[in-house]
Amino acid sequence: GDAEAARRTIDAILAALAAVEAAEPALTANDREVGDGDLGINLARGAAAIRAEIEGYRTLSPAAILARMSATLRRVVGGTSGALYAVMLLRAGAALDGIAAPAKADWAHAARAGVDAVAALGDAKLGDRTMLDALLPAVERLEAGGSDALARGARAAREGAEATAGLRPRRGRSSYLGDRAVGRPDPGAEAVAVWLGAVADTLAK
Ligand code: ADP
Ligand code: MG
Ligand code: MG
Repeated sequence: GDAEAARRTIDAILAALAAVEAAEPALTANDREVGDGDLGINLARGAAAIRAEIEGYRTLSPAAILARMSATLRRVVGGTSGALYAVMLLRAGAALDGIAAPAKADWAHAARAGVDAVAALGDAKLGDRTMLDALLPAVERLEAGGSDALARGARAAREGAEATAGLRPRRGRSSYLGDRAVGRPDPGAEAVAVWLGAVADTLAK
């Protein structure tokens, strides 16, 4: 029912928040090498803001929860990530509008809408060495469906993030480094692998 949909959504969000917070030093260290060193701090600030308001999500639909998260991240997270996560959650939430208890196919559809919005706003595609190199392969696994689609999606995100270490950056601050970024993974893609892995582990339980 509706309360169960909200509870599972909130459990998944809490797992994502904890994972982002735990990864903060590593994400910051990596962004320091290939960007401006604020990614971990940006995302941890967003995680803290969502944690502070999450009890208020319990009576909301999944669509409304994602819309609220979008507004909060837009307000507190700076940098490119703030704008990209805000638009991703806004569009994903809009795709769930009117669905009290989304099915897996609804979540896959919402994820596609959110990730496509990131690609549009960032003017980026697969292989540009951004968070999309984790997000796009993950969404494909979700759309393929099956009982372990989310676990497959999380693994695809992890593999996609690791593969960014071999890619030349074409978007964002890393692009100013050019070949000097090669050898390290894109921190935004790493972050996606971190939180999606935590979400998948929690929802598999
Ligand atoms: P900033 O570069 O503004 O400090 P963040 O550190 O918050 O931004 O986020 C950096 C991450 O954002 C990158 O590692 C990359 O994954 C992602 N990113 C940067 N530019 C783009 C873009 N144009 N499209 C998609 N993702 C991007
Ligand atoms: Mg940065
Ligand atoms: Mg910055």
